[in-house]
Amino acid sequence: MLKPITWAMPALFTALFAASPALTDDKVLNLYSARHYQADEALYGNFTKQTGIQINRIEGKAHELIERIRTEGANSPADIFITADAASLVIADAGGMFAPVKSKLLEARIPAHLRSDTWFSFSTRARMIIYNKRKLKAEDVPTYESLADPKLKGMLCSIPGGHIYNLALVATQIAHNGDAKAEEWAKGLVANLARSPRGGDTDQIRSVAIGECAVAVSNSYYLARMMGSDKVEERNLTKRLGVVWPNQGSYGTHINVSGGGVVKTSKNREAAIKFLEYLVSDDAQRYFANGNNEWPAVPSVKVDNEELAELGSFQADQLPLSNMAKHLGNAQKMLDRVGYR
Ligand code: FE
Repeated sequence: MLKPITWAMPALFTALFAASPALTDDKVLNLYSARHYQADEALYGNFTKQTGIQINRIEGKAHELIERIRTEGANSPADIFITADAASLVIADAGGMFAPVKSKLLEARIPAHLRSDTWFSFSTRARMIIYNKRKLKAEDVPTYESLADPKLKGMLCSIPGGHIYNLALVATQIAHNGDAKAEEWAKGLVANLARSPRGGDTDQIRSVAIGECAVAVSNSYYLARMMGSDKVEERNLTKRLGVVWPNQGSYGTHINVSGGGVVKTSKNREAAIKFLEYLVSDDAQRYFANGNNEWPAVPSVKVDNEELAELGSFQADQLPLSNMAKHLGNAQKMLDRVGYR
């Protein structure tokens, strides 16, 4: 679990990259990655084939890698940090981890709400409502707000309140509906819980399928993964589920992203930017997104993914992720106040 909101602002980073020449003859990029999928191997291999630049991957959990880069300071070998949620990107950024990157290509390919001056999203996933078809109908749970309706008392399953995916959703509620309404809503969710929050999104999907609860929210790729599982029991579980793209009549479905940026102390800045630019190419976008059943961040690129096709299309929330992120600290305090643990 990330406990990032309490992070002290960073020690001053000495911006060495500005003083030292870009080491274009250095043929290795150190990629600190909190995203680990099989398909990413081929993705990085293709970059090496095209450019001769090797990718040396250092894997870990987002908060561990952020802490490691911070501790390594000016001597950090990290060139790029990649992670699988917007909140971690923003936390890393607030800690001064990233260097600003000006790239016409990245700006042209990635929609403005999915990037900042320092970090860029490369794929998106949606936070969808999943319900048990025997217990509820789609029209019972059309919006995130509807999950707080007292008629759902004892029906809601949830990951822990402070889980980074939940924090981002709550921060979005604050951005759209304001503090007071968001807090009422969070209280309503707690009152509707079927059991104390625990586990990850996949656990919630299972609990809904077996009827331990009637409804939950989950990132889309966990459901897509189960739908495409080679285990027939997993696939059968998903057949009991109905899916709602929340808030189609208002601001749209909350999305989150995988993304990354160039580490401020990188000695390979040019190659690092080249790598980010490679990630928005059509082929890399397909690999990056499809490897985890996500959608490409570049809108013109389509993936050929049976499960995502079955889930259909939806209107995504256009709230800039950086606006969402402003409310993360507040979201955590609010969840503490209402006892959503
Ligand atoms: Fe995840």
